[in-house]
Amino acid sequence: MTTPLAATAATPASTPTSSFEIRPSSNPRTVTERGAVLADLKFGTAFTDHMAHATWTVDAGWQDRRIEAYGPLQLDPAAAVLHYAQEIFEGLKAYAHPDGSVWSFRPEANARRFARSAERLALPELSEEDFLDSVRTLVHTDVDWVPTTPGSSLYLRPFMFASEAFLGVRAATRVDYLVIASPVGPYFARGITPVHIWVSDEYARAAPGGTGAAKCGGNYAASLLPQATAAARGFDQILFLDSAGENIEELGGMNVVVIGRDGTASTPRLNGSILEGVTRSSILTLLAEQGLDVQERDISLAELVDGVRSGEVTEVFACGTAAVVTPIGRLAGTDFDVTVGDGEAGPLTRDVHDQLTGIQYGTREDTHGWLTRLV
Ligand SMILES: *Cc1c(COP(=O)(O)O)cnc(C)c1O
Repeated sequence: MTTPLAATAATPASTPTSSFEIRPSSNPRTVTERGAVLADLKFGTAFTDHMAHATWTVDAGWQDRRIEAYGPLQLDPAAAVLHYAQEIFEGLKAYAHPDGSVWSFRPEANARRFARSAERLALPELSEEDFLDSVRTLVHTDVDWVPTTPGSSLYLRPFMFASEAFLGVRAATRVDYLVIASPVGPYFARGITPVHIWVSDEYARAAPGGTGAAKCGGNYAASLLPQATAAARGFDQILFLDSAGENIEELGGMNVVVIGRDGTASTPRLNGSILEGVTRSSILTLLAEQGLDVQERDISLAELVDGVRSGEVTEVFACGTAAVVTPIGRLAGTDFDVTVGDGEAGPLTRDVHDQLTGIQYGTREDTHGWLTRLV
């Protein structure tokens, strides 16, 4: 059910001037159809009526910025992305606040990361202004799709890919950029549940000089088989080590934080093959403000396992936009199997989750200026 949290109504944000021309769908879903979707939210299965779209060519640059009806793309079978995976993406959310306004969380950080990913994948840079404009104008157009049930949000997926029809191997001269939007429910429908993690000594996610620090589809393609082997062993997620098999790096789509009894919060340093999460950086800020000694450094698997065994490590959690904070209750690999604390979500894990979501949903003060109003 969509129960508005509404207390007092916000002054409506003025309609933004946008370089994305709005071409309304001639076939939007009815209020009843939309209501049925919003009453039964899952993750990433339903999409709104519109999408943002722009095209780039090497000769003309970015052009034809528009908001158009959501629907299938026409793609030449020789489109380079289908053969060489020249593709990047982003993930962020729009949150409804109790007063009816709609906000996003540090979208400029996503815009900058998108530009860095584009550079690594030899895709054209999209300006921060175009990125924010596309997101804002799409959410404005489809604002009725922003869910208001507690813990729900409109998940936004900007992405860019090589659409040039060409089988030679070089950077494409024609590229498409789109943003699609999906109303999503809380990741944990029944409260925060710890996950069990398999540590892979068989597969690596990234290597020095590779694409690990870029948010590209190829990294995810490479993580699917490892993830499936972990699932077949009865584990929820996989933790990847560095290519030497020594230090921990991250999960397939989430960063990792380790809390010590000595008041430390440690996370693998950005070594070039780890994705720099916006959630990671925000949580490190919040933990430091709480007086924890935040350390970005190499963390060996041996140190982590020994620490969990001895009780020196009290909590371990994963973090990312989709699930926010995910407690890790158990870590296992070919020669170890340890339970973190009592296997349940620890107090700091819960607290940092509540702090972060409180800021995102407008129930806690945003002292860092992390929120950007969309509507
Ligand atoms: C997106 C992503 C994360 C988390 O980043 P957030 O900005 O916090 O959502 C972590 N690792 C990988 C591999 C990712 O793709």
